[in-house]
Amino acid sequence: MLSRARPAIPLSEPELGGREWEYVKQCLDTGWVSSAGSFVGRFEREVAQRVQVPWAVATVNGTAALHLALRVAGVEPDDEVLVSDLTFIAPANAVRYLGAWPVFLDAEPDYAQLDPDAVAAFLERNCERSGPCPRDRRTGRWVRALLPVDILGHPVDLDPLLELCAAWGLALVEDATESLGARYKGVPVGSRAGLACLSFNGNKIITTGGGGMILASRQDWADRARHLSTQAKDDPVEFVHGAVGYNYRLSNVLAAIGTAQLERLDSFLERKRSLSERYDAALADVPGIVPLGQAPWAESSRWLYTVLVDEARFGMDSRDLLHRLEAAGIQARPLWQPMHLSPAHRDCAAAPCPNAARLHRRALCLPSSVGLTEADQERVVETIRAART
Ligand SMILES: *Cc1c(COP(=O)(O)O)cnc(C)c1O
Repeated sequence: MLSRARPAIPLSEPELGGREWEYVKQCLDTGWVSSAGSFVGRFEREVAQRVQVPWAVATVNGTAALHLALRVAGVEPDDEVLVSDLTFIAPANAVRYLGAWPVFLDAEPDYAQLDPDAVAAFLERNCERSGPCPRDRRTGRWVRALLPVDILGHPVDLDPLLELCAAWGLALVEDATESLGARYKGVPVGSRAGLACLSFNGNKIITTGGGGMILASRQDWADRARHLSTQAKDDPVEFVHGAVGYNYRLSNVLAAIGTAQLERLDSFLERKRSLSERYDAALADVPGIVPLGQAPWAESSRWLYTVLVDEARFGMDSRDLLHRLEAAGIQARPLWQPMHLSPAHRDCAAAPCPNAARLHRRALCLPSSVGLTEADQERVVETIRAART
């Protein structure tokens, strides 16, 4: 059965023209289809090498990676975790899986990433240093970790966040699921956080269909994550389990696809870069359409090309433009509902998040597939221009 008809120009489509078939065939021909096969370890080693981290643990998806990483970071029931307000919902859900509470903090206005000043303000105003990590005076809960999300492929400003974590005794788990291949001050995103998570979902920069990975700077963290990801089985023969674990390990078939995808990451990044530069040039003179910028210290993976629509200057708001594009067979998407507005997390605390709310109203992600042709990109630009007149 086929799924819904595809839009003529989709938002983000995977590109599977490399050695995926060859590697998957190796799995099928040898019978090594489960997590015990050799592509799992190979994919982990090659991603770790690419991101320049010593350890990596492949998981069934990015959400599972976040869940495990938070548990390894020491997050316990009734702890608090500081999370980006403007994000896909997965990191907030992962905190809740542990019975802990996300506290949502605002984005900065320029690049839409978690604002380090919002983190500093929250800690200084609301927390006391009375133990191993800050305690939220209002709730009496331990604030155990910080979970910044590099949204849209652009890195967060990590240095001030690392300083705050060191000064206050917070663990840092970076959600790098949208930013594989990005660099922060020249260094690969995911390499400095202690614990970082990747996703290989169908629309991410490389895909395994579904998959994820935990990147760790310490072997004991990686060992713990791997142990928990395989039902915490302690003995190779006897069914003895040292903890309540999960069935979160990536299968060999999917790791085989990921291994082939990784071989082409550089060319994908290069194509995303030229696509994004073409959009910048073509939209530069359209009043009221402002691309989300790139910080001087950042090299974004440009996962999804995103513009802000200024209704007063453009003559229509982001949602009307979205509908205009959809009518022309062009798939665009708003950003995620900010977490402080999400019905799923209505019981959670949040600092004021005016930037996230404003970015959510204005932002529109445009077609950004690696395989987007120049002709199709031209159609997107022309449809935006025509919407204005
Ligand atoms: C894609 C994504 C994830 C993880 O998604 P999975 O589909 O579980 O692999 C987590 N956080 C963010 C911000 C994401 O965009």
